[in-house]
Amino acid sequence: MAELGKAHDADKVIDGAGCVAIPGLVNCHTHAAMTLLRGYGDDMALRDWLAGRIWPAEAKLTRDDVYWGTRLACLEMVKTGTTAFADMYFFGPVMADAANDSGLRAVVCEGFIDLGSDERREANIKSTEETTRHVRCMRGGRVHASVGPHAVYTVSEKGWQWLCEHAKEHDLLVHTHLSETAQEVSDCRAAHGVSPPGLLDRLGVLDRRVLAAHCAHLSAEDIALMGRRRVAACHNPVSNMKLGGAGVMPWAELSAAGAPCVLGTDGAASNNTLDMFETMKSAALLQKFSGDPTRLPARDALEAATARGAAALGLPGGRIAEGQVADVVLVDLGRAGMQPVHDVVSNLVYAGAGRAVVATVCAGKVLMEGGAVPDEREVVKRASAAAMDLVRRREDAAAAAAGAKG
Ligand SMILES: [Zn+2]
Repeated sequence: MAELGKAHDADKVIDGAGCVAIPGLVNCHTHAAMTLLRGYGDDMALRDWLAGRIWPAEAKLTRDDVYWGTRLACLEMVKTGTTAFADMYFFGPVMADAANDSGLRAVVCEGFIDLGSDERREANIKSTEETTRHVRCMRGGRVHASVGPHAVYTVSEKGWQWLCEHAKEHDLLVHTHLSETAQEVSDCRAAHGVSPPGLLDRLGVLDRRVLAAHCAHLSAEDIALMGRRRVAACHNPVSNMKLGGAGVMPWAELSAAGAPCVLGTDGAASNNTLDMFETMKSAALLQKFSGDPTRLPARDALEAATARGAAALGLPGGRIAEGQVADVVLVDLGRAGMQPVHDVVSNLVYAGAGRAVVATVCAGKVLMEGGAVPDEREVVKRASAAAMDLVRRREDAAAAAAGAKG
């Protein structure tokens, strides 16, 4: 080992005996700080969950909450082999700092939700500009800005147009939610006479680099359009199943049309983990459940979670080769659940490899070794305290409002 280090002029040598080295995984859609709301309302109808739990809690979020929630998410990603992620949430500069302090690569955007209000649009424009400026001034080169129009039903045409201009001016990725539910599609058709992808095309959004999360309710016409425009379609199988969206992203059809298909966890409130190994498996199973077990084979899932994911985010990584960035994960093949190894890719995708990650390296920096992350205890403690305090503030406000009514 020591000789190997010397021969390659290495600062550090990690003994990877019995492990397989794979490129760091890429989570193409999450809301990292939602780790604070993990388990705060499960098994509920989407509308009740959002209106009764998530939105009231989010209304109480502080910058500190977002920082520690994002740090907790990054810690979980490091522990389960993810080295890059696309994040959409609130307090963009804080999200960027937390990702940077964790040592990961990230493409962050402030969620843009104007609901047709001029006042909200101005506030959203200000915070998007602030995020772009903040990220541009950061050192390290691992964190990048994007723009985050939440969805066709929450952003006005004026909002989309401003975001398109801003993305064009600064060459930013457009990260959005698209055709997540049947209701979104029928409402969009009723209001605009076209489907959500059709509307984005009409607004000129698809001229930009677009990352669209969910894509669970698409027509043949939508699929052809997204293929032509090379829209990256991010499948979030666990979140879709958990929230009962009753639609499955047409992976094979989008791929055949030319749209790169990638993978994401969505936020921890609707998943409830950020383990991309679990997402690879769930994606493959959900595609096969239609009755065709040849759909989304393990190798395609691994490619989507590595090289294709990195390319969709405009990041380096996703391959282990000379000249590539050092984003590498070691998975212990000696564990009971990982033996025997007839096919290493099969074990990685189907045998729960997230639990077997022992080392994570991002941009040449060792973030975890021997299963240990140096500041793990501190991050867990600070984030858990922030989560409990957030929920208490939200419940105190609800009790005060009920008291005022009574
Ligand atoms: Zn989402």
